Amino acid sequence: MNRFASRRDFFAWTRGLVAAGVASRAVPAKAAPAPTQPADEGEDYYDKLGVTKIINAAGTYTILTASTMPPSVQAAVARAAKHPVRLMELQKKAGEYLASRLHCEAAVVTAGAASALTLGTAACMTVANNVSTPQKMPADIAGLKNEVIVQKAHRYGYDHALLNCGIRFVEVETLADYEAAFTDRTVMAHFFNAAEGGQISREDWIRVAHKHGVPCFNDAAADVPPISNLWNYTQMGFDLVTFSGGKGIRGPQNAGLLLGRKDLIAAAAMNNNPYDDVVGRGMKVAKEQIVGMVAAVDWFAGQDEEAMQHEFRRRAELIAERMKDIPSLESSIAVPPVANQVPHLLLRYDQQRVKISPVDVKHQLRDGTPSIELNPATGSNRASAGLPIDGNTIVVGVWMLEPGEDRIVADRLHDVLAKAAV
Ligand SMILES: *Cc1c(COP(=O)(O)O)cnc(C)c1O
Repeated sequence: MNRFASRRDFFAWTRGLVAAGVASRAVPAKAAPAPTQPADEGEDYYDKLGVTKIINAAGTYTILTASTMPPSVQAAVARAAKHPVRLMELQKKAGEYLASRLHCEAAVVTAGAASALTLGTAACMTVANNVSTPQKMPADIAGLKNEVIVQKAHRYGYDHALLNCGIRFVEVETLADYEAAFTDRTVMAHFFNAAEGGQISREDWIRVAHKHGVPCFNDAAADVPPISNLWNYTQMGFDLVTFSGGKGIRGPQNAGLLLGRKDLIAAAAMNNNPYDDVVGRGMKVAKEQIVGMVAAVDWFAGQDEEAMQHEFRRRAELIAERMKDIPSLESSIAVPPVANQVPHLLLRYDQQRVKISPVDVKHQLRDGTPSIELNPATGSNRASAGLPIDGNTIVVGVWMLEPGEDRIVADRLHDVLAKAAV
């Protein structure tokens, strides 16, 4: 391993360096790779840089690098890296392939779902105004239509991706509010698929917007599985839908899908890299990520839904079984209703019998070797991702575990809890 006992030590150490103004070349060199390592695997730059590799028992969280690409996707990415191509031809043909595979009119690979939100909003601005709009967003839009209608409960951490286009949100709560909110400045109606509040259904959202000739966007970034969601929402009538490429689909983390109406996808492309003077210029998707995204859709769409869910449940049960002798511990398995719709393991116990809090368990696993990240809802009493939790719950996200890691997580959790049992 490296000289840093834990990630926290490492961060403390790097902060110290920054404070001391030490140049980054002070990062310790690591010995050359062992001669047994196959040459084509390349050097392990995590080791070289002193970066801690983790076991992801949390889920597809952005700050934990979300997911890993399956071998077939990794291979497609490596292969794409070997050849230059014409970027616009690749983008166009990848889009056509994805549209046909995902049963929608058109598609474009974006630099993640957040980027798709920006490009989709830019597309709606462009279509609602005129084709000269791309150069004007976000600053020079006086006199342009720029209102996006959204349910108050659907305002969220990705608002900024839309605001990047210079739009203004118009909030509604009731269906009557919604009906009354359309003006000649409305460009789009936005829906957050996994929102836990909001009175207006998807069907009503689409129906009313279409009555006014306004396109609807559904942000379903984290909402596969089920695999069929990749076409459910476009077929339901949403004009634009996005999914993150690096979450459940397990493509490159900096890729995403924008799916929908042909004219809107074409307008999104006008606002995207490689055009220079547009909001999307900084959202470049390289050839490796475009190919990786397509390969990941091939991989994901080819999965057996039931087998996949069964495997996640098996992992959760294996870990639960290992905890059997921990006094007072009760386990259950919960599947959130929309986003991250996969089995999560919940562990609860009497802290008089096992004298450690779930948050301290989380920290001990993080600081151990190997370093394990439990689901961030562990020890939290804020409702999270539709999981029935309270401040006394350990949450294990099993779906991003690599083969064999379920046992490692089970053993480490058992060690920590058994040691605290009285
Ligand atoms: C993760 C997420 C995004 C952003 O996805 P990226 O692919 O990381 O850009 C946007 N919206 C929602 C609801 C998400 O969960």
